[in-house]
Amino acid sequence: MADPTTPVPPRRRRGLLIVLSSPSGAGKSTISRLLLDADPHITMSISATTRPMRPGEIEGRDYHFVDDAEFQRMIADGEFAEWAPVFDHHYGSPQAPIKAALKEGRDVLFDIDWQGTQQLHAAMGEDLVRVFILPPSMAELRQRLEMRGTDTEEVIEGRMRRAAGEISHWAEYDYVLINEDMGACLSEVRSILAAERLKRWRQAGLVGFVRDLVASSAQ
Ligand code: GDP
Ligand code: ADP
Repeated sequence: MADPTTPVPPRRRRGLLIVLSSPSGAGKSTISRLLLDADPHITMSISATTRPMRPGEIEGRDYHFVDDAEFQRMIADGEFAEWAPVFDHHYGSPQAPIKAALKEGRDVLFDIDWQGTQQLHAAMGEDLVRVFILPPSMAELRQRLEMRGTDTEEVIEGRMRRAAGEISHWAEYDYVLINEDMGACLSEVRSILAAERLKRWRQAGLVGFVRDLVASSAQ
């Protein structure tokens, strides 16, 4: 019998890209953090942004905070897999870490908006899994933005004004969740990830495994 303390190597498979989009405040950053904490096979895509750092944010963990000139240089040098203007600032996903993670067989999680999702979908096709997170109500969305305590009333107003626009893209996503209860929503995201990882065509080792399986029955 196999030693139960020996880690089982993950089945060889193609990495996937998973996007979480939602109106600001619906809970995608919190869900991302909890997902990453408990899953060594997924890595976060750290975006570059021109928006100012919020209290509590850390350079390189939450974002790469860059100025406009640096962001424009990154666009010109083709360093982004996608980029878009959001809330009067620019946001983009650097290309190199995505390629490196996929090469190492790790999945990559993105917290990006609908514009970036469309661009990644066009570039990556079926390697991209798109998840949209809805708030249970607009009143709850506002309350979450206020409770988070990271934005001024003016910034919160701006995010609430744009929420309906972001939500209008819900039908462009593969999965749609309502984040009423955080634990329930997190486990739904985990279920999606588990099922997507088992997609036949993502399991590169299956052809050889099935061939050996069938051959062994003939012996
Ligand atoms: P928060 O979502 O309220 O925490 O506010 P942020 O300022 O961190 O993000 C604002 C929006 O920009 C969110 O909808 C993010 O999903 C989106 N965003 C963040 N990074 C990227 C990126 O690299 N590309 C694109 N297209 N959108 C991004
Ligand atoms: P986003 O990244 O989508 O802008 P956050 O993850 O920053 O949203 O969440 C906004 C606020 O709402 C945070 O203070 C977070 O703790 C809280 N929050 C997230 N999900 C829930 C939930 N299901 N119930 C109550 N509060 C939540």
